[in-house]
Amino acid sequence: MSEAPRVAFAVYGCRLNQAEAEAWRTALARRGARVAEPAEADVLCLHSCAVTAAAVREALRALRAWRAAHPRGRVVVSGCAATLLPPGLADLALPHAEKARWLRAVCALLGLPGAEAGEAAAPPPRRTRAALIAQDGCDRFCAYCIVPRMRGAPTSVPMGALLRAAAERFAQGFREIVLTGCNLALYRDPDTGAALPELLARLCDVPGEGRFRLGSLEPCVTDDAALFRLAAGSGGRLCAFFHLPIQSGSDALLARMGRPYGAARIRATLDALCGALPFCGLGADWIAGLPGETEADAEATRRLLADYPFTGAHVFPYSKRPGTPAAAFPGQVPSERIAARAAALRAVAAETRRLALRRFLGRELCVIPERTRTGRCEGWSAEYLRCRLPESAPRGVPTAFVPTAILPDGTLG
Ligand code: SF4
Repeated sequence: MSEAPRVAFAVYGCRLNQAEAEAWRTALARRGARVAEPAEADVLCLHSCAVTAAAVREALRALRAWRAAHPRGRVVVSGCAATLLPPGLADLALPHAEKARWLRAVCALLGLPGAEAGEAAAPPPRRTRAALIAQDGCDRFCAYCIVPRMRGAPTSVPMGALLRAAAERFAQGFREIVLTGCNLALYRDPDTGAALPELLARLCDVPGEGRFRLGSLEPCVTDDAALFRLAAGSGGRLCAFFHLPIQSGSDALLARMGRPYGAARIRATLDALCGALPFCGLGADWIAGLPGETEADAEATRRLLADYPFTGAHVFPYSKRPGTPAAAFPGQVPSERIAARAAALRAVAAETRRLALRRFLGRELCVIPERTRTGRCEGWSAEYLRCRLPESAPRGVPTAFVPTAILPDGTLG
């Protein structure tokens, strides 16, 4: 390849994957690679997700289609599905265990200047929001989840390094830092053993102008109530938004999944959150159709979802992941029943969201305008509500915003 390679990224899955890919993209661009759209690229870097069978299928489909259209192109596959793809499809397959050598290996493949082992790239200075990876891996082995087998045991970034990185991001002009991890609630500073609430308390004191947002948080693992109090007392430094992968409202199913709580405990957690932050953004993940799920279990989940002001919900129809205990559970639910229960759950989620968003009408929110779409400027409030502002709103500058109408995908003001 004589000219600088044109590299495209296809990224699937969680925020952690997005953050990892963003860092690699930036590092390759710094070494002379040209970042391109997949159709124009000579090299496709596919960062994959294996959390559902559908995610693996989607990555495989995209990869095959790109290969067919670019017979001389090169493919680098990384992420949770890197070991699940048929052999021969990728020029380089780097599962999570080999992530530390991704940059070196890809630079060698593309003839770009080498990189140091473990080099971390700063995010590009064109965004208002930066991701900060604090943690990776998980050892909880929930019955349906393949992630611990793919990402390995929990590891955490030292607190000192995170505090320095956060101060740098603010100095670079980012106004929001999203703390991400595979299971953030397992964060432990390798030097002192400090847990997530202590880390966030220290982050809130970092010099610089901007706010922190917490990525998905496994409930009932760390001291959730301490986090809620911290957000409530932080004067907006820690966003009033929590995304909890609750998964089910049924005691029987939660036990089957191997989750560390039952319905009463998760309700107590949600009560603590709503008590500390009555106007918070509240997201959750839900699984429909885990093996053994009865109609009563599904109803318990719908009830829990309807009982709290969820502003967002991701509903996952259960899909078998080979290698997980749930794949061998008796009582697999027929696919049409899974689809019907997922649809019913989504309907409840939509109505719950509509009611939850209505509470924000006329209430002043702090929005960071990010981009223009369909003639309006769009940004996210601290509560993670998508807000449509006038076109003239200043990009990247925290702006007061009062929602006056609820739209299907956000609020208008
Ligand atoms: S805690 Fe989350 S990442 Fe860990 S096994 Fe359970 S679902 Fe998977």
